[in-house]
Amino acid sequence: MRKLVVAGNWKMVKTCAETEAFASAFSQKINRSFSVETIVFPPFTSLSAARKALPNMVKLGGQNLYPAIEGAFTGEISPGMLVELGCSHVLIGHSERRQYFHEDPAFLARKLEAAFTAGLCPVLCIGETLEQYEAGTTQAVLASQLKQSLEPIKAACLANPFIIAYEPVWAIGTGKVATAEYAQEVHAFVRKVLADCLSSTLAETIQILYGGSVKPNNAVELLSQPDIDGALIGGASLDPDSFFDIIVGAHDLKK
Ligand code: PEP
Repeated sequence: MRKLVVAGNWKMVKTCAETEAFASAFSQKINRSFSVETIVFPPFTSLSAARKALPNMVKLGGQNLYPAIEGAFTGEISPGMLVELGCSHVLIGHSERRQYFHEDPAFLARKLEAAFTAGLCPVLCIGETLEQYEAGTTQAVLASQLKQSLEPIKAACLANPFIIAYEPVWAIGTGKVATAEYAQEVHAFVRKVLADCLSSTLAETIQILYGGSVKPNNAVELLSQPDIDGALIGGASLDPDSFFDIIVGAHDLKK
């Protein structure tokens, strides 16, 4: 049984003061427990404020890491630093990292291994561009992204928990959400690739999140699909009301 995940990627948005304001509004809404795993990925500079101000039910994640314990890597952050700040999760290979910072699957494999070694649960983001979608190469792109990042990793590492986020690049921040049917078909395919790379037993335990313009008005339909185990949310996670509404919708599904 896979627990539903509702995760918010704040990207480069929210100062410490804005994080505290979000947490204060959000905490007032949390007056009961939810059968949903909730994770927030604030900017590095707001992680400490987030940990202090957000309720304990909200797990914390870093948006990135550098695959080394420490060293001369100006501007980077190590896995251990994320753990010290209270993170249990880390995003790996978000499409903005792949696109603007040219992170390739081999480098992402090193990041995955570093996350596992530090005891962090990585959320590996994959997704096709609009061009690839229109060319009908979505499945080939996703299989290649998954295989190139997972195959170099030792089997023992991959027995640790990790999450996949399928985020069609054409749906991120565009308001163009994938249909629930299309997303389900892709998620089922991703699970099949995971079964080929790992084992079908392990693949059944891995949470596969959908990301791309998820809002309170479309979340429930997406999350009702059998292979959609949660959502990675950008824009709608910045507002405590819409983020909370998605959590409530997911909880009420009782999947
Ligand atoms: C994201 O940044 O991962 C994302 C899915 O953004 P949005 O929800 O705004 O499309």
